[in-house]
Formats: sequence, structure tokens, C-alpha cells
Amino acid sequence: MMPGKWSTAFTQQQKAWLRRVAPHLVSSLLNWWQRHGRRDLPWRLLPDGRQPGPDDLLPVYPVWVAEVMLQQTRLTVALPFWRRWRSRFPDLESLAAASRQEVLHCWQGLGYYVRARRLHEAAIRLAAAGRSLPTDRAGLEQLPGLGRTTAAAIAATVGNSPDPILDGNVQRVLARLLAFPAPPRQAGPLFWTMVELLLDHRGARDFNQALMDLGALVCRPRAPLCQGCPWQSHCHAYGKGIQRQLPVRQAPAPIPRVMVGVGIVLDHRGKVLIGQRQPDGLLGGLWEFPGGKQEPGETMAETVARELQEEVGLTVAAGPELLRFDHAYTHRRLTFAAYLCRVLAGEARPVASQQVAWVWPRDLRHYPFPAAHARMVQALGEHLGGA
Ligand code: SF4
Repeated sequence: MMPGKWSTAFTQQQKAWLRRVAPHLVSSLLNWWQRHGRRDLPWRLLPDGRQPGPDDLLPVYPVWVAEVMLQQTRLTVALPFWRRWRSRFPDLESLAAASRQEVLHCWQGLGYYVRARRLHEAAIRLAAAGRSLPTDRAGLEQLPGLGRTTAAAIAATVGNSPDPILDGNVQRVLARLLAFPAPPRQAGPLFWTMVELLLDHRGARDFNQALMDLGALVCRPRAPLCQGCPWQSHCHAYGKGIQRQLPVRQAPAPIPRVMVGVGIVLDHRGKVLIGQRQPDGLLGGLWEFPGGKQEPGETMAETVARELQEEVGLTVAAGPELLRFDHAYTHRRLTFAAYLCRVLAGEARPVASQQVAWVWPRDLRHYPFPAAHARMVQALGEHLGGA
């Protein structure tokens, strides 16, 4: 039994326990993975479809794209996007040659668009320097958006390098295995020490993937499947019956609700006005209908009229309301109200955006939109189709 008092470093006693159980943890995990792991994911295979051996090198580009997609997205959601991306941008050169708009369009629906921008930016930078993608962790960490864990996951998958990983899944497994009594963030270097100690240096590729698969398939966030877990006999959370209460969660910050008025402006030809967001920041480079936050004391129609004046320099009559819906982001909840608008005066110009464009409604599908605005595109299509 492991001694209980925790700090951000293992005590000698805890280290001794870990050294004693590590061989069994590693071998039982790898045995489990041989039978139940997701070993046939396309970026985990050699180009001819075989499983890689310890000395094989996998192509780095598909692994890089996959690991960046998986940073904030579950595998089942990411997989079809990865396939689409691979057929649209099969290699670094084709990605570097694509426009920002094509890249964002291909990513549309996956969220956290900064990831797509960083992939694109890295491809352009490498192509300009005549370099290929690095395959070692240190080189990968120089690329935009890659921290230690993602760089290590790519390096170990590609070249079987002895780089441990510590993503959210792995943190959850370790917090339960140790029955860690605080949020994982407070573990400091403790969990890194643990994965370093456990890492199978001759088979880091398989070990890391097995650990990730254990977190995703067995030691799941809400309902861990302890009966099928290879680590059950050493798991302190399971031993105490508290696996569903761990990891300890940080008290969530209150999520503010924001009301947003959006103007869908149609001109006399039937074209609709859209604007492209500034290149950086949240949803950078995506297109949207103009609009913004409701100010105190405003009706939503007044918000729309004011925002259109401020954002694109148009005086409009706002109404009727086309649709209203809630949309949740990680840190805030928005209620969107989209109004059909008629221009009274002014010429549209990009005051707050990169550029504005008048577009036939049927052509909106060629532009990348954030999910909330894609919903408005659909509503507009239905409105016009039924009009
Ligand atoms: S026994 Fe249960 S809680 Fe412990 S590591 Fe396995 S799945 Fe997670």
C-alpha cells in the first residue's frame, strides 16, 4: 500500500512503491493494449498498412495533424476531419500553398480554429525555409502551438523516441491510480516524474499510445470501466471506491451570459453582407455576419443597428428577427439574435474586420464560418428558400 501524504514530489517511500509496482503496471498495460488498443488508427500505421516495429519511422505529417486535432477534440469527432484534411492537404507542401481561407474552411466544425492557423503558419514557415517537419521533441516544440506533451506524443509515435506524455487523459489516470487528493494542476512535477519513471524506453511509442488509450477507453472521465482495467489491482482510487470522485476538480468559475445582436443585411440585388475577422485572436480569419454585444438599456434591434453603424458604417433598419438561439463556448454562454436588415444609408466598409464582402446567399457555403454563424447561414437559406 502506498503511503499517503502528498506534496509536489514523491517521498522516498512513495518512490520505492512506484519502483516496485512499475514493471507490472507497464507489462499489464501493454498486454491490455495488444488486445484492446486502437492500434489501427491510420496515422499509427506504416504507409503500407503494417504495424510499425520499434525501429520503423512513421511519416510525421499525418501524426502532427492528428495530434494537433486531438489537443481539444475527442478521437471519434476528429477522425473524419483528419481524413478530410489529408485528402485536401496531403502533405506539408500542399498545406503551405493553401490560402488561409481554404485551411479554415477545411477545419470548419472542429472548433478552436487557432489550431488550424498554427498548422498553416508552421507549414508556411517551414516551406519558406526549405525545411521539412522535425521529428524530435525539441524541434517540434519550436513549432507554433506545440507544448511538451503534444511534441512528445508526435516524436514518440513517429520515431519511438523515449519521450513521456502527460495530457488530460493521462493526468486523470494517474490522479486515480494514486488517489491524488487535489486537482491534477496542483501536482506540479509529480505526475511528470511518474510518467518518466514508468516509460518503457525501448517501446515508448506503444507505451504512450497504450496510456492514452487506457484513459480514453477504460479510465473514462465520468464512468471508468474498472472491471476491465489492467491497473485495477494497484489503483488506490478503485481500492477506496472513490474513482468516480477523482480527479478532484477545480471549482469552476461562473460562466457569464452575453446577449449578441447580429445583422443579416440584404441589399437590393439580394446579396448578403459578411465580414472577415481579424487574422489573430479567437476565431481569427473566419467570416461572420456583423454584430456585437448588447449594451445595457438597448433593445436587441437597437444593438444590431448600433453595431452595424460601428462595425461596417451602415445605417440599417433592423427587423424582423430571423432566429434566436443559445451557443456555449468554454468560458461563456452567448445568446444570438439575428435580424434581417435593410440598408438606409452608407457604404459597407471594414471598420472592425479585415474585409467585408457582399455575397450571393448560395455562395456562403464557400466561406468558413464559426459554428454559430453557420447556423445563421442555414436559417437564411431556409428563409429565402421558403420565401
Ligand atoms: S481501476 Fe478504474 S479508476 Fe483505477 S485506473 Fe483503472 S479504470 Fe481508472
